Amino acid sequence: MAALKELFDLTGRVAVVTGGSSGLGLQMADALAEFGARVVICARKPERFAAAEARLRAWGGEVLSVACDVSRPEQVHALHAQVMERFGGIDVLVNNAGRAWVAPVEEMPLERWQQVFDLNITAPFLLAQAFGREMIRQKKGSIINIASIAGLVGRNPDAYNSIAYGSSKGALVNFTRDLAVKWARHQIRVNAICPGFFVTDINRKVYDERPEKIDREIPLGKPGGDSDIKGAAVWLASDASRFVTGAIIPVDGGTTAW
Ligand code: NDP
Repeated sequence: MAALKELFDLTGRVAVVTGGSSGLGLQMADALAEFGARVVICARKPERFAAAEARLRAWGGEVLSVACDVSRPEQVHALHAQVMERFGGIDVLVNNAGRAWVAPVEEMPLERWQQVFDLNITAPFLLAQAFGREMIRQKKGSIINIASIAGLVGRNPDAYNSIAYGSSKGALVNFTRDLAVKWARHQIRVNAICPGFFVTDINRKVYDERPEKIDREIPLGKPGGDSDIKGAAVWLASDASRFVTGAIIPVDGGTTAW
């Protein structure tokens, strides 16, 4: 029987976190590094890498930053090549980078709809395909997709008006379930975290404009904080969840439980 501390231990594991240079991605990368993982972060803007790397290196492990737009297939292939060259394998893929476009449905530009889908669902597919081939060879791996509660329920347009976001995150939720079933035979686990409201660069302005209104929509009374997604990420990355696949985990202060 394994000790619980060993089950959560990630020493030496290689974890790739897309959008790991800020927000929830950085929070999760930090948690994985704290538990011993060698972490690769990727994002488009390299200017945030130095601060993110300093934070992750404080845990003592290796860190690699790669400038990459994960909605571009050729850049995903280059990221994959760099990770393989440096580490020779991968244990954990966190598909975290995401975006939204807010507009009434009847005015949503097709180009914006497509950009949201390119990043929120096509990129996780491309990344899972590239790194999944290694995981199939290794006969193990954990893929964690960062969806959203907007992928679980319809949202009041007065609170959040992005049909492209909700639809693409809903697609990511069922991509998670379907891939979990398809790759279970390779011992690759695929799970999703559905965050509720966390204040990050993506939505700080929205929160600052009406904090009380947003707080009231959350049963626990406030948005997620700077450590509130760490536990779910480490649990799903590690052997502590080795009998868990195809699970969709809301981390939302109870928002979808009303
Ligand atoms: P942030 O805007 O704070 O961070 C987004 C990260 O993704 C940045 O590191 C950004 O870096 C990177 N990124 C954006 N576009 C690309 C791209 N094309 N290729 C590679 N990296 C990219 O967002 P959050 O931390 O808030 O969101 C993270 C995830 O969590 C998203 O998928 C979001 O939908 C989801 N989520 C967030 C919620 C929240 O309340 N914050 C609620 C529910 C879900 P750069 O700009 O340099 O590329």
